[in-house]
Amino acid sequence: MKVIIVGRPNVGKSTLFNRIIKKRLSIVHDMPGVTRDVIESQAQWQGKSFTVMDTGGVIESGDYISQEVRKKVIQHLEKVDLILFVVDAKEGLTAQDQEIAKLLYPYKHKTILVVNKVDNKKSNLNAYDFYTLGFDEVYFVSAQHGKGVAELLDRIVRDI
Ligand code: GDP
Ligand code: MG
Repeated sequence: MKVIIVGRPNVGKSTLFNRIIKKRLSIVHDMPGVTRDVIESQAQWQGKSFTVMDTGGVIESGDYISQEVRKKVIQHLEKVDLILFVVDAKEGLTAQDQEIAKLLYPYKHKTILVVNKVDNKKSNLNAYDFYTLGFDEVYFVSAQHGKGVAELLDRIVRDI
């Protein structure tokens, strides 16, 4: 069972990855695009084991992230069992999110939309916007504080 985490820079992919594997393997940084390649680790939940991958280069098409990394991520999309598409509740929906959503539509059946940075109920969350992306399964989490992550993990291991 393989799970890949994708999304535009700075939405909290590496924070979520580290939370899932319960280690600090992937660098979390305020600067976008810190994870330039694909990092892979084993994770356990409810006695079940799966592989999780953190990515950086899926959308950074500019000068500093190579097209090779992007290609590699797209190849992974084919092979994985589950895709966690992470977006940022604090910033809201962006054009880049919509770009990535398009890239993921062929894999819609195995994609879960993860709305991150829902740190507290008061956060002025525009949940409806995220539903317009067209993914059936949507989870609201705070990777930093761990909120909602247990429910997401339950879902991930459900079919193992
Ligand atoms: P990535 O580029 O998608 O891998 O994002 P990172 O995991 O490096 O995180 C980018 C920034 O968002 C860092 O400053 C994190 O501390 C912050 N961040 C990640 N998850 C959360 C969260 O749940 N809530 C808040 N408020 N900030 C978060
Ligand atoms: Mg990262």
